[in-house]
Amino acid sequence: MVRLTAADGYTATRSYSVASPPGDSQDIEITVERLEDGEVSSYLHEVVVPGDELEVRGPIGGWFVWRGDTPALLVGGGSGIVPLMAMLRLARRSGRSDLVRLVASVRSPVELYYAEELPGPETTVVFTREAPPSWDRPPGRLGEEDLRRVLAPGATAYVCGSSGFADHVTGLLARLEFPDEHIRVERFGPTS
Ligand SMILES: Cc1cc2nc3c(=O)[nH]c(=O)nc-3n(C[C@H](O)[C@H](O)[C@H](O)COP(=O)(O)OP(=O)(O)OC[C@H]3O[C@@H](n4cnc5c(N)ncnc54)[C@H](O)[C@@H]3O)c2cc1C
Repeated sequence: MVRLTAADGYTATRSYSVASPPGDSQDIEITVERLEDGEVSSYLHEVVVPGDELEVRGPIGGWFVWRGDTPALLVGGGSGIVPLMAMLRLARRSGRSDLVRLVASVRSPVELYYAEELPGPETTVVFTREAPPSWDRPPGRLGEEDLRRVLAPGATAYVCGSSGFADHVTGLLARLEFPDEHIRVERFGPTS
């Protein structure tokens, strides 16, 4: 949780996922999508500079957690990839990439988070509106076939994104007969 406090005492608090893997560093990385009219995200993009101090609390929540030693299907929409990136980084760092399959869904190449770091044998990118010219999958909404290819026996699915995206993916997983009790969802709606 990041809390900003104005000079007059007004405060605004928002949740952000940790993108860095667990480790011995004191540093944490967050990735913030800039919303045009967003109070906190715009401030973090446009006003905050290196050296500024932010009030941070957490991490909070013990549900959307992957411990790094079981098969995991990670499905992220837009900035919903952020907590999944922590898991992918952990898998790569510990030499257990074989356990992880990550599917990132974004509208177009310019909106792809971690574009340099993401590609690898364990990751798939689905472009929904505009794909690079060389891409073999035509642009279109994430579908059953995209997930069928990456299903692994005994995996837990971690689904993260907007509420609409999360509902869409859990619907696809249900149609693929993915066990409901093995699905974990994190929704990036406005912080209440
Ligand atoms: C558990 C959790 C984890 C999150 N992790 C991340 C993260 O890692 N990175 C990240 O960028 N965001 C994340 N979010 C979303 C984040 O908390 C804020 O909601 C977001 O940054 C918008 O805040 P704001 O103050 O800029 O917008 P506000 O001023 O609160 O809202 C501005 C406008 O945008 C709409 N809006 C608010 N939030 C969203 C949203 N998430 N998507 C689309 N429209 C929205 C509002 O309805 C309003 O119309 C997370 C949310 C939750 C609940």
